Amino acid sequence: MFIDRARILVKAGDGGNGMSSFRREKYVPQGGPNGGDGGKGADIILKADRNINTLVDFRYKRQFKGDTGGAGQSANKHGRGAENLIVSVPLGTTVTDEESGKLMADLVEDGQTYMVAKGGRGGRGNARFQNSANRVPTFAEKGEPGEERWLNLELKVLADVGLLGYPSVGKSSIIRKVSSAKPEVAAYHFTTLTPVLGVVSVAPGKSFVMADIPGLIEGASEGIGLGHSFLRHVERSNILLHVLDVSGLEGRDPIEDFHKINEELAKYSEKLSKKKQLIVLNKTDLLQDEETLPRVTKYFADQDYEVFAVNALTGEGLPALVERAWYYVENYVPEPEVVDDTVYYEAKPDTDFVITRGDDASYIISGSRIEKLVAMTNLDDEQALRRFQKIWRYMDLDAELKKRGIQDGDEVVIGEQRFTFHD
Ligand code: GDP
Ligand code: MG
Repeated sequence: MFIDRARILVKAGDGGNGMSSFRREKYVPQGGPNGGDGGKGADIILKADRNINTLVDFRYKRQFKGDTGGAGQSANKHGRGAENLIVSVPLGTTVTDEESGKLMADLVEDGQTYMVAKGGRGGRGNARFQNSANRVPTFAEKGEPGEERWLNLELKVLADVGLLGYPSVGKSSIIRKVSSAKPEVAAYHFTTLTPVLGVVSVAPGKSFVMADIPGLIEGASEGIGLGHSFLRHVERSNILLHVLDVSGLEGRDPIEDFHKINEELAKYSEKLSKKKQLIVLNKTDLLQDEETLPRVTKYFADQDYEVFAVNALTGEGLPALVERAWYYVENYVPEPEVVDDTVYYEAKPDTDFVITRGDDASYIISGSRIEKLVAMTNLDDEQALRRFQKIWRYMDLDAELKKRGIQDGDEVVIGEQRFTFHD
């Protein structure tokens, strides 16, 4: 299988900080709190785009960082939400969360999106904390940090167009001539034959993957050749180009070759043998007999094949072939593939936390809710601290810590903060 891989870092935008402020008006000596909320940080969203064929661009740009939400302002003005960052990937890209190893998404349809990192919520302004118990809240929340994770992207590069033909008829030469990019071809398990693969650019945003099918003649139908997973791979291709050497230099007859290859193909795969074939008559510069080209052309045209006379070395005739191949690629409707053994990514329930012991004997509390709470609380503000303590009690953290044997004066670590425990 041709596998293209990339490892990228996505960091969603942090939420904007909430504002702490008070109304100041003439004749109003003690205005109420009016600090606005911060805006939401940018989500990072992957989007499948059929115009992209490989993950090659991610070798140059590996990090994607979303914008921070706008800060809240006085007079109850809320900060602006940041615009989400959309990262385009090829169809068929699977996305795995590196840390958990879990599959997050399998982007198969054009336009399909998946949020891979959630932007932080904006911190609430002090106006939101006013209640009957506290008429003058002085504190505001900081923005929630955006999610951050490493992703492994993987793409099984699918050939849109496969090439058939005897060895040395010019398959590799054709691919080399018409393709502009060469995806990395992973070492293939079943054979020493390496499939040649290239991305053919027809126009900006219009490209397809062309691959030859080596080993077909060398006993592939008996299982010596490329094996089943390769077969499955080319079965997803849309069209086959059947390349024939018309030079007559090897002493072979192109029409005979055509039938022999197709017999072999039918043994190899019934499905593959039903694919549409375009006839490519190559090595027209080396024709030994004037009569061969018109004879062979007529033979195939009479059976309603489309015939292209080409020269793989000079490129003559290839643009028309590429254009026609693109027509079939563009009009191809892929069969949906069923993925059954998929494990989907699941977020942990928010209130979960785990207590572990650090190297320095400290108690480390980890859990998304508690870590977020600490990151978002301005611990220098007395009121904010009190609210934090309330939630701490609600989560019953003291009891859990005591169960683990915590003593007065021991250190507690949450996220990037350290506290000293006092019962
Ligand atoms: P493959 O085995 O089908 O991939 O064939 P290759 O692309 O490796 O070509 C075999 C040989 O034929 C190479 O030496 C090529 O340079 C040569 N060749 C391919 N196409 C042409 C052509 O149109 N004209 C000429 N003169 N030589 C060609
Ligand atoms: Mg070759």
